[in-house]
Amino acid sequence: MEHIRCAETGQIIEKLDTSMIGRRVIVETQTTAATDWIDEVYCPVCEAWMIGTRATIGAFLTRHGAYHGHNAHVIDQM
Ligand SMILES: [Zn+2]
Repeated sequence: MEHIRCAETGQIIEKLDTSMIGRRVIVETQTTAATDWIDEVYCPVCEAWMIGTRATIGAFLTRHGAYHGHNAHVIDQM
């Protein structure tokens, strides 16, 4: 079970929205707790959009870059 907790208030964040971009959070699982930040990315090729922690965005970018091909520089950090 994973929780995203606001680093400032300690409150568990149930649903992310764009007002939270830039917010520092603690991502907790049963075995780890890690500092992260909420961010968003957008792909101008297929218009895929994602909001999440930087760790999950990193995973998204890796998969998404592979989807469009390794030489396509398609992702804009917003
Ligand atoms: Zn795309």
